[in-house]
Amino acid sequence: MAVLPAVDVEFEVTVPIVIVGAGACGLAAALAAKDDGAEVLVLERDAVPQGSTALSSGFIPACETQIQRDKGIEDSVDAFAADILGKAHNETDADMVRAICRESGPAIDWLMDRHGIEFILVEGFLYPNHSYLRMHATPSRTGADLIGAMTRAAEQAGIDIVTNSAVVDLYADASNRITGLRFEHPDGSDERLGCGALILACNGFGGNPEMVRQFIPDMAEANYFGHTGNQGDAIRWGESLGAATADLGSFQGHGSVAHPHGILISWALMMEGGIQVNSDGLRFSNEHEGYSEQGRRVIAQAGHIAWNIFDDRLYAFAQDFEDFRQAVAAGAIVSAADIPQLAVVSGLPEGNLRSTFEEVGRLATCEGADTFGRDFTTAPMLTPPYRAARVTGSLFHTQGGLLVDEKARVLHHDGSPFPNLYAGGGAARGVSGPSDWGYLSGNGLLTALTLGRIAGRSATAVASQSLNSDMH
Ligand SMILES: Cc1cc2nc3c(=O)[nH]c(=O)nc-3n(C[C@H](O)[C@H](O)[C@H](O)COP(=O)(O)OP(=O)(O)OC[C@H]3O[C@@H](n4cnc5c(N)ncnc54)[C@H](O)[C@@H]3O)c2cc1C
Repeated sequence: MAVLPAVDVEFEVTVPIVIVGAGACGLAAALAAKDDGAEVLVLERDAVPQGSTALSSGFIPACETQIQRDKGIEDSVDAFAADILGKAHNETDADMVRAICRESGPAIDWLMDRHGIEFILVEGFLYPNHSYLRMHATPSRTGADLIGAMTRAAEQAGIDIVTNSAVVDLYADASNRITGLRFEHPDGSDERLGCGALILACNGFGGNPEMVRQFIPDMAEANYFGHTGNQGDAIRWGESLGAATADLGSFQGHGSVAHPHGILISWALMMEGGIQVNSDGLRFSNEHEGYSEQGRRVIAQAGHIAWNIFDDRLYAFAQDFEDFRQAVAAGAIVSAADIPQLAVVSGLPEGNLRSTFEEVGRLATCEGADTFGRDFTTAPMLTPPYRAARVTGSLFHTQGGLLVDEKARVLHHDGSPFPNLYAGGGAARGVSGPSDWGYLSGNGLLTALTLGRIAGRSATAVASQSLNSDMH
């Protein structure tokens, strides 16, 4: 893959806006551009649009939505931005955060009102550091349904999604204007296509082990739980073009993937009273800080393993999660009448397990402070019978990427924008700061949807101009 000079390259077909990748970002960009009257084409490497979006839980945080208003939830751009910046310890771009938060509510309302996608508010618990209920999801609460609904909306809008088409090379002129690209089909054949503007919506580099080793060495040995087609293409083209990148060491990890089943066990269990112990039966962290940083912490435990411990109340509560039901069906959840039996079914040392439960019991009645800083008074204490799942830590997706501005324009190192190149979602720098601890739940789909929509609108404004300048 390369960026090639556009000199003397003729394209038989030219489309005003071309989008690389048909995940949440690419489809949001396509819908926005089409709504604004632009002709748009999406190129997708896979046979069916899925991406990490299909693997996700599909929870999109957004503030000031109609659904929130109907439920009397007084969330605001200020509150949402403060939560994102707080989680990232202010080590991200505050103006971008505010721009993205401002766009979040209108983006959900737009998908509902204009494109007929049904969303519900995820209720019953708050993810770490979210001040309000603001997770929106399609009714089944799965990413597969989200991408299905967005693909159907794109088809209904008359958007062409050309699948089995991996974009390999870009063509750029002397002013770094992208004039077209080359893409390959699985049978080895290839095609060239001209464009007035290009939107990179091909996510980050989680599926590229060399890049993970280079930028996130701590997670080189962790399972990658995202879409393997995300090979860092946007970053590699960007670097060849002289684009600025930022926070390449940033990522969303997760400390709760059932092992060896490979099924996500929702962190909501921890927020509502569950605890996590290592193979010595001892807690090793404040579970309420976040599931992202917990990925690295679990990887650091013996055998890269931890156990999620909860009870029947939480087992019933978790039935609302599709992946939890799958984990149950796969035999990933064990049950035990009491602590001795829990020790037997998990293989954890009974003595340590007992002291962990005693300690948590004391903390729940405000006797002393947790060494790790967790507040145990926010949820009921665990009561027998118990349930448990053996889990490991995983890399879910990368959060660093191409530096973009509030119009989703890709920026040069000197801060000037490329004339017709845009990026969003995992292809662009996220809002999670430089590492894994800055990821506020939902930052992934938040930037996919909002920056995608912004990129679609911005590209529409320049695409025809760019094509006209080509003709003169
Ligand atoms: C298990 C899991 C659970 C998650 N849950 C959530 C959640 O609940 N909420 C949340 O906010 N985030 C969640 N995330 C993160 C979220 O999935 C991503 O942040 C989001 O899907 C990124 O969207 P995207 O459109 O940028 O990328 P993707 O959805 O990955 O789409 C990128 C597309 O580009 C295609 N592509 C790549 N390179 C090329 C190329 N050269 N040519 C053509 N096509 C190409 C890929 O095939 C892919 O289809 C989760 C992630 C995982 C792994």
